[in-house]
Amino acid sequence: MHSIERGLSEEQKMMRETCRAFVDDFVTPFIRQNWQREWVMTPEDRLPRSILEQAHKIGIRTLAIPEEFGGTAIDPKEEVRTFAVISEELARGDSGLADKLVQIWKVSVLLRNVAPRHLQERWFPRIAEDPSFLLAHCLTEPRGASDRWLPYDVPEAMMHTRAELRGDKWVINGRKQFISNGYDAKLYVVYATTKPGAGMTKGTSSFLVPRDTPGLVIQRCNETMGGRFMNNGEIVFEDMAVPKDHLLVQDTALTKAGVYFRPGKIIQASKNLGVGMAAFERTAEYVQNYVQGGRILIKHQAVACRLAEMATKLSAVRAMLREASAAVDAKSPDAEALCNMAKLFASEEVFKVCQHAMELHGGNGVMLDFGIEKLLRDSAVFLHMDGTTDISKFKIVKALFPDTAGVYAGQEK
Ligand SMILES: Cc1cc2nc3c(=O)[nH]c(=O)nc-3n(C[C@H](O)[C@H](O)[C@H](O)COP(=O)(O)OP(=O)(O)OC[C@H]3O[C@@H](n4cnc5c(N)ncnc54)[C@H](O)[C@@H]3O)c2cc1C
Repeated sequence: MHSIERGLSEEQKMMRETCRAFVDDFVTPFIRQNWQREWVMTPEDRLPRSILEQAHKIGIRTLAIPEEFGGTAIDPKEEVRTFAVISEELARGDSGLADKLVQIWKVSVLLRNVAPRHLQERWFPRIAEDPSFLLAHCLTEPRGASDRWLPYDVPEAMMHTRAELRGDKWVINGRKQFISNGYDAKLYVVYATTKPGAGMTKGTSSFLVPRDTPGLVIQRCNETMGGRFMNNGEIVFEDMAVPKDHLLVQDTALTKAGVYFRPGKIIQASKNLGVGMAAFERTAEYVQNYVQGGRILIKHQAVACRLAEMATKLSAVRAMLREASAAVDAKSPDAEALCNMAKLFASEEVFKVCQHAMELHGGNGVMLDFGIEKLLRDSAVFLHMDGTTDISKFKIVKALFPDTAGVYAGQEK
């Protein structure tokens, strides 16, 4: 597995090294020594603030924030590739920590593209200077997220969260669930229907909502099976009045969200790869030291075959990610298909890599304090985040065959 740095720029290599040192020195030791913390039912007590502070210190928290507002400068031509490199390294240490941080990058990219200047001037410096400032992106509601991903552009599929302009405020009512960082973010991007009956792409608006807005209620932390160091949240809006100037995009918010979704798929696949790399590295070490049948495990051919499969799958994911992230960075016409392919392929293949890892660890593989079962749980979550595997397949076909693939709802043309 020596190809990890192939094609990286000097800047990316340096950032990767810095991030790897942070993960090896701070993150992995914490996770291994404090495995019980994952199961603490007071979400704010799971990951210590010092880890976010350290991430902040080395500049990886603020990657996507414009330099003029205190963000970390990176080559804009290869921004998505850099996201891929750093999110893999972070998730190699912990998937939940990676989730926490990448949401800041993803939402910052969105804000850079759609937020009016006065909102950027107001919020970016605050995000940049506070190590515990997290961001969240609220699309999903109790009734089906898949409709938003396709999207089903029919009135029946509209978001139930509604926003109405009353005087100089947008008043929002509704509920969002499964939101990454939803439990502890300080700033939320919220999507709501503003034109009922117009269809999702023509009647959905987005808003920037500070956590302390009256009417914003953090209902609970959604307790997940994996990625547990990121606090996923359910949020209710009860007559929440948002100043008119906090509108991001009126009515066509979903058509402008590609700038968030496409890098998002690459980041998702890269985090997934990081979890797979952790599983591979731990397993490689184990099978070269643990003895059964009078020899170390790797000398048993069945074990060697599984190890080869793990390495091959991870190399394939990496190769696909290189291609897909270059396409997203270049805004190529094939970017939509490739980023969905990378996300889909990574989620299915890394899950299998983690299954092999568990199998090769025998009984130790299912022991909580050994930390291998955590990787399987973490990898399982990727099958459901950012669109399910089946929905990703629909999106790939739609991107490849835009004129003939189904519209999935409403009248076929
Ligand atoms: C850990 C985690 C973090 C998340 N973070 C965020 C976040 O930050 N922000 C956010 O907005 N959302 C977030 N989500 C939500 C996520 O995007 C959705 O869970 C995901 O898209 C699936 O939507 P759903 O759960 O509503 O399932 P549904 O849409 O109800 O789907 C249920 C099943 O039906 C299938 N299905 C649905 N429609 C069709 C169809 N037309 N044809 C065939 N099969 C279909 C799906 O593939 C799936 O198998 C997160 C989810 C998780 C698990």
